[in-house]
Amino acid sequence: MIAERPARTRYEPVIGIEIHVQLRTASKMFCGCSTDSVEAPPNTLTCPVCLAMPGTLPVINRRAVEHVLATGLALEAEIPEVTRWDRKNYFYPDLPKSYQISQYDLPLSARGRLTFDTSEGPVIVSITRAHLEEDTARLIHQPGADGQRVSLVDFNRSGVPLMEVVTEPELHSAEAARRYAEELRMLLLAIGASDAAMENGQMRVEANVSLRERGTEPFGTRVEVKNMNSFRSVERAIEFEIDRQAQALDAGEPLSQETRGWDDARGVTYTMRSKEDSHDYRYFPEPDLPPLRPDRAWLERIRAGLPELPAARRARYRDEVGLSAYDAAVLAGDAGAVALFESARNADPGLSAKRIANWVTGEYLRLAKGAGPESTTSATRADGVQLARLVRLVEEGAISGTNGKQVLERHVATGEAVDAIVKELGLAQISDERPLVAAIDDVVAANPTAVSDLLAGKTQVLGFLTGQVMKATRGQANAAKVRELLERRLASGAQGPTEGAPAGSTGDDPGSTGGPLGSTGDDPGSIGSRD
Ligand code: ADP
Ligand code: MG
Ligand code: ZN
Repeated sequence: MIAERPARTRYEPVIGIEIHVQLRTASKMFCGCSTDSVEAPPNTLTCPVCLAMPGTLPVINRRAVEHVLATGLALEAEIPEVTRWDRKNYFYPDLPKSYQISQYDLPLSARGRLTFDTSEGPVIVSITRAHLEEDTARLIHQPGADGQRVSLVDFNRSGVPLMEVVTEPELHSAEAARRYAEELRMLLLAIGASDAAMENGQMRVEANVSLRERGTEPFGTRVEVKNMNSFRSVERAIEFEIDRQAQALDAGEPLSQETRGWDDARGVTYTMRSKEDSHDYRYFPEPDLPPLRPDRAWLERIRAGLPELPAARRARYRDEVGLSAYDAAVLAGDAGAVALFESARNADPGLSAKRIANWVTGEYLRLAKGAGPESTTSATRADGVQLARLVRLVEEGAISGTNGKQVLERHVATGEAVDAIVKELGLAQISDERPLVAAIDDVVAANPTAVSDLLAGKTQVLGFLTGQVMKATRGQANAAKVRELLERRLASGAQGPTEGAPAGSTGDDPGSTGGPLGSTGDDPGSIGSRD
């Protein structure tokens, strides 16, 4: 194990991030095969093109190009007049053509930037490039029948469109690196370029980490870390790597330029391969595809179609809706939450936007997260019109806040309408005094000790009694009303009959148990209508 944070102050971490994302398209990059490989049995989404049969030719997926252009524009990058496809050659069982069609020196977009917040303030990182390429097949290594290791290959992923986004080595903490990856994901979700779910490989983050002595310019030896499959792992892996390198440097051990993997269970990085055997990819222009010239009118259409980006949205939620910076970030940070919030606002403009936001950031996100970490929350069936209805019912006291949560939970799970759920579960709030007074009577009769405590001045018992009434009415009672009725009954008890002492002072007297509060309980009608 590595000792805690050795000599970290002596070195400045230098970090550059490479992120691959699967672009959101129905078909693959250069053929018509479906990209929907999550559920499909292995090798069912293939054709001669993505299996690299001789004589086949690639056809460019227009949608994939648009996603990269939209990303480039959102990152304030430059889109060149002419871009090119290049062959990246290497030999490996996951690569049927023995080359990948990618982009080398003329990517679809270059020299952009992304701004995001960290605990130490805002950071702007330069984006080197965002280019388009195709994914490889997937290798699965497993023990075979005779105990030997077998490797299987699934070509469903072969030829799926991938975008690679690369930053300059300008990040200086593990937190900043994680926040950059999170911000890029939000941006991609907002513009619809990718679903970017890390847990199923739609977004793969690689971190290049080196250290240099503070105050010095030249970069140290860089290590590339892979195999992190959550944002938390990204941060942990980089923290580990910073400590490991600092310790090695302190001990005078040279670092080697290598690729390391992250072992999440053990919390360590380990050597995968040294950069010495890094391949010469022999890039050359792809002869089967012409250079691509993004038409300027097309670019302008894409630019005009860009939605509000996460940073602008956060600012608007803070300034317009009046959310805290934290809540604004939470809300703007989840595409499902944004959609739900905006549609609920449109459905009932009379409602307080802040109140809707509270339901979304509180209850809805809690429920959505339960459906899977970092998953696309659109998997839940929440509907803005229904949320607006729910918030209104709670606002008007027709259902209690507690039951409102129950209704939302059911709505998110089933998609049923809020009114139907309220009716079905019998949750309509009881604000009518008559049934409430009846319930109070029962609770008072069943809890003589609590009642005498209350009369003795222990006002916290009021909460307990209110709770009992809520329980007796299966949460349907209007809690504020119950409290009010209980208080009223207490006040009338304090006026008391003959003994006449105020509630507080009769506390010691056990006789008061059967006193005013208890005895008036028999006559609900008179209590309910007294004032
Ligand atoms: P490769 O293609 O071999 O991975 P690149 O030069 O394209 O190499 O760099 C990849 C990533 O490594 C970029 O994000 C870049 O910012 C980052 N990087 C380059 N040099 C360093 C360094 N000394 N320390 C940390 N990151 C670095
Ligand atoms: Mg690299
Ligand atoms: Zn195909």
